[in-house]
Amino acid sequence: MYIGRFAPTPSGPLHFGSIVTAMASYLDAKHNNGKWKVRIDDIDSPRILEGSELAILKKLENLGLHWDDKISRQSENIKEYKNALEALKKKNLTYNCRCSRKKILESTQSDSDELTYNNHCRNRQYPPSHTSSIRLIANYKSTNFNDRAQGPQCHNINNSINDFIIKRSDQLYAYQFTVVIDDELQSVNNIVRGTDLLNSTIKQYCLNSILNFSKKTYMHVPIAIINNQKLSKGNGDKLNSNNLSLILVEGLKFLKQKIQKDIEDGSPEEILKYASDNWNTKPFQKLRSIELNPTQCLIVDNTRT
Ligand SMILES: [Zn+2]
Repeated sequence: MYIGRFAPTPSGPLHFGSIVTAMASYLDAKHNNGKWKVRIDDIDSPRILEGSELAILKKLENLGLHWDDKISRQSENIKEYKNALEALKKKNLTYNCRCSRKKILESTQSDSDELTYNNHCRNRQYPPSHTSSIRLIANYKSTNFNDRAQGPQCHNINNSINDFIIKRSDQLYAYQFTVVIDDELQSVNNIVRGTDLLNSTIKQYCLNSILNFSKKTYMHVPIAIINNQKLSKGNGDKLNSNNLSLILVEGLKFLKQKIQKDIEDGSPEEILKYASDNWNTKPFQKLRSIELNPTQCLIVDNTRT
């Protein structure tokens, strides 16, 4: 059975970009007669904003995006992270890294924005400490996967993936690590999310196979941009519009779905039913981002005051 999910961080209210991602994962799951689960990514404590979890869940419910099964939270999975880390340590696939971000920046020769690590500490046998991070040794068998929307993703181990952090120097587990375990615990087998996470997917894909977890498929949908910048909870988008049907219709237009005129006045549930019956991933194939149109910008702007 298809099991999909939406996993927001409670760092602020949902914005139009995250609603679109929620809709895409929901519609893909429902179109495939699957389940759609919600998980709250609540362990990155510096980013958590009190009250956001409730606000997010309420918004999803109001929009008719009803989830299956009980909500799960990362904070409930700490023991599982610990166990997985121990398993990797036992396989001698981890080491302690003392490099600061600054030091890595200085040593990196890559032109890309992403920080490439030169595996500096791999053979140094540093003992564990409260200020060092833990990295996973990147010696994977498979480095290719097929993204359902973005096509085949090929990665050259030596150029693009180096040993990466699974536990940060502030002692929080890294996103790349937790997300793989969270999905396995929730039996998620279809991951639909924004293209901002496409480049890091190969790390999760490899970690998933090292941990002998079940296979997952991936689909990265275009992210919303405004004036060439990604929407974020920080740039003022609060999405307070009370017209829930309008938000959904604009979300469907963003995802380039066909919409019948008469369905636009329907209830959120009616709109979502129509949209899941007619869900088509072809129109956004290979699109990494889409600039918001004036109406969608209006939804954003209206909420800034
Ligand atoms: Zn290091």
